[in-house]
Amino acid sequence: EHADALSMFRSAVARSPDADAIRYFGTRISYRALDALSDALAAALVDRGFGRGDRVALYLQNVPQFVIGLIATWKAGGVAVSVNPMNRHRELELLLTDSGACVLLCLETLYRDVAAAVVPRTSVRMVITTSELDDRSRDDGRLFANVERVASDGAIPLSDLLAGFRGRAPPEVAFSASDSAFLTYTSGTTGPPKGAMNSHGNFVYNCQVYRDWCGLGAADVVLGLAPLFHITGLVGHIGVALLLGAPLVLTYRFEPAVVLETIRDEHATFAVGAITAFIAMMNHPDARTENLATLRKVFSGGAPIPPAVIKTFREQFGHYIHSVYGLTETTSPSHIVPVGAEAPVDEASGALSVGVPVYGTTVRIVGEDGQDLPAGEAGEIVTTGPQVIAGYWNKPEETAHAIRDGRFHTGDVGYMDQRGWFYIVDRKKDQINAAGYKVWPREVEDVLYEHDAVLEAAVVGAPDPYRGETVKAFISLRPGRSVTPDALILFCKQRLAAYKYPRIVEVLDELPKTVTGKILRRELRAKQSP
Ligand code: ATP
Repeated sequence: EHADALSMFRSAVARSPDADAIRYFGTRISYRALDALSDALAAALVDRGFGRGDRVALYLQNVPQFVIGLIATWKAGGVAVSVNPMNRHRELELLLTDSGACVLLCLETLYRDVAAAVVPRTSVRMVITTSELDDRSRDDGRLFANVERVASDGAIPLSDLLAGFRGRAPPEVAFSASDSAFLTYTSGTTGPPKGAMNSHGNFVYNCQVYRDWCGLGAADVVLGLAPLFHITGLVGHIGVALLLGAPLVLTYRFEPAVVLETIRDEHATFAVGAITAFIAMMNHPDARTENLATLRKVFSGGAPIPPAVIKTFREQFGHYIHSVYGLTETTSPSHIVPVGAEAPVDEASGALSVGVPVYGTTVRIVGEDGQDLPAGEAGEIVTTGPQVIAGYWNKPEETAHAIRDGRFHTGDVGYMDQRGWFYIVDRKKDQINAAGYKVWPREVEDVLYEHDAVLEAAVVGAPDPYRGETVKAFISLRPGRSVTPDALILFCKQRLAAYKYPRIVEVLDELPKTVTGKILRRELRAKQSP
């Protein structure tokens, strides 16, 4: 339908110029205003020598400036680099250096605390800072005029650029489907971070997939539940809203009470986010069925979804959580449980299906020697489709390793049932080896989530002098509930094979998570080391 992200955006502006593109607390930005603001920023970039293919790093929370910066980057012919706002000096320097970004758009606070010290050691030539918007500002055109101007040394306030270039626009640019739209960095559990080159074609394709498989239209209100820098935020929030010409509701960052209130006030209808976000909302004292009444299209991906959580969420709010499976490298979904369908649970393994491959996508399950495996047998998931990246930025070796003949090797182990539903067993690298017995953490976690005192659970291998590794569970408790480690071990023992149940249970106040809401098994594993 659309050749690239810009024509997708332009089509929304032409169709519904006065519709809200972004809602941020009291602030409303229409499609027309978003067009004008991004024109001004793009004109400012071009005026300063920014050229085709140059990179702009976006180091921001979930604020409207992220979307303005992203569209402006495209209008100026560039490629956006999305940076996790939790990143600190070392990580930021790595990303800026690796991507060779020449412009950095960042929050004033992040500039002062982190970026200012790092920028001189990188290729960044221009820093644009922005502070939080004034919530009461409702006038589109003057949006940034009443933002407090805090000019840090060497940085230009975004409001100055927008005021200086108001009414200006850059020369037209055109992209081909294979041009990079943004670089999204994987978190680097297996080595230095790699920048996935998500192309315009990858991006537009999966925006359409979300629209069609989640049953979305222009009347929907998109909730920005995941961080915008992550592939889920880029595609499932920004991209979807721009494709539909619908409003995107942003809340700075995920805060259960704020998000619950926002869903109610803005009548959000569609959300895709980490399961831990839904768990947090469910267990929050402000959780009321009425607050979530409009949120009928609920999707979750990025980490395994325990079947018990889907059940409780539905009992509490009346909505079914559909699974999405995908990676940064597949530009978000490769599999979805489409709206209207419900995922089967495999009787034998207890695993919940993550859905079926979305249209145009071929998924193979391959064995150790690269051979295709039949239904029912577990192997590595290998994905081919229009959403799969062509490679990692400046990393030919890693690219050749992960993507062979257009087939992307995910590092996830899974299987397909007779009817074509797919199941993720777990990540290859998270397998526990207890005296030769292979245990997949996800299966044990699913059982832990069945216990009604358990809020969150993560299972890892703990070093063991006799068995090499032993199964250890970390849990946090629901507010006001308690359970002893022994009772929980017994609970699992009654439900799992003898080699699988956890031998050690440790209760923590909170489990470590990424900003994307994924529980950090690797951090918990590290806690084990003597
Ligand atoms: P890294 O950067 O270390 O490779 P990441 O978690 O940052 O990891 P992402 O691309 O964000 O990388 O996440 C992709 C991974 O998330 C998948 O490989 C898979 O293990 C997991 N995942 C995504 N969706 C699901 C799902 N529905 N069920 C189970 N696991 C999922």
